[in-house]
Amino acid sequence: MPKRIYNFSAGPATLPYSVLEEAAKDIVNFKDKGIGLIEMSHRSKEFMAVADETEALVRELLEVPENYKVLFLQGGASSQFFMIPMNLLGAGKKATYLNTGTWTRKAIKEAKLFGDIDVAYSSEESSFNRVPEEDEYTVDRSSEYLYLCSNNTIYGTQFAQFPGKGSMLVCDMSSDIFSRSLDISRFGIIFAGAQKNMGPAGVTLVIIREDLLDSTPDNVPTMLRYKTHADKGSMFNTPPTFAIYCVGRVLTWLKEQGGVAAMQQRNEEKAALLYEAVDGNDFYRGHAEKASRSLMNVTFNLPTPELEAEFIAEAAALGFDGLKGHRSIGGCRASIYNAFPKEGIEKLVAFMAEFAAKKG
Ligand SMILES: *Cc1c(COP(=O)(O)O)cnc(C)c1O
Repeated sequence: MPKRIYNFSAGPATLPYSVLEEAAKDIVNFKDKGIGLIEMSHRSKEFMAVADETEALVRELLEVPENYKVLFLQGGASSQFFMIPMNLLGAGKKATYLNTGTWTRKAIKEAKLFGDIDVAYSSEESSFNRVPEEDEYTVDRSSEYLYLCSNNTIYGTQFAQFPGKGSMLVCDMSSDIFSRSLDISRFGIIFAGAQKNMGPAGVTLVIIREDLLDSTPDNVPTMLRYKTHADKGSMFNTPPTFAIYCVGRVLTWLKEQGGVAAMQQRNEEKAALLYEAVDGNDFYRGHAEKASRSLMNVTFNLPTPELEAEFIAEAAALGFDGLKGHRSIGGCRASIYNAFPKEGIEKLVAFMAEFAAKKG
């Protein structure tokens, strides 16, 4: 293996090295067929097998029930912000949204184009440093769905539990899918861009309950209807073949690691190490309230923006990359998705102690 830096980037993010190596080989010569993976027809026997295997892994690892479709779409997670209300709402229809960060704010803006949107909760006034408890909002009985973002990548907050009440859930899981076990049956739609926790940019995973495929208004264009893609096994048009292939390789790796439950335990251990370092020294201050903390994105501040800049620069020189917080909140952020190695966190924690001793 070449020398690798520790990549704390929020996304695109670190991937298992074994996957990168395998992909590099397969791009040039797929399974010794004399043709590179990215040159192959999406309708070839070889690629169809890749797509089928990837879907089967999604179903197995997340225990997706039979009455859900698994789709591989394009346009990023951001396109789901409009595609969901476009397909599920329409004149006179209502949905409830929980506003817990930049990504939900963007989703709310799009949803308002297609229906009556009730924002039942917002933590915007406290810089999105928390997610709500269930008794902090109500869901109108006429709501078609309750929309939430399970992990707020920018602010470092996460729902430890999913809402148990009200209408079916629609959830943006872009930055924590495959990080923990789920009861899929609570959800109408789950979606996630691949580039945080399951592959390279270019594909968006959508898991949708079958009965929802028939609720789309007639005036929605063909490419923007879930049913179009569900009926054709995500091959209505050319799918992003390389990204789908990579997701399959990452999920194979994940299965070898023991699956989602094992990954969840490892993620809890990894995050605990880093939060202990933040809490154990007055020099560092966590952004998120403790009960809302994310296991995927750890956000923290130093006493001043100048010290933060110094910290990030010194860390980068030592091979800890991507620790700068999102431009909208500043500070520091360590993204520690499934593929991020525990030893990278142990080394960062040691550096944090040294830096605090020197500057504190
Ligand atoms: C990154 C991110 C998005 C946006 O994803 P794109 O694929 O760039 O559109 C949406 N939601 C969450 C939670 C994210 O982390």
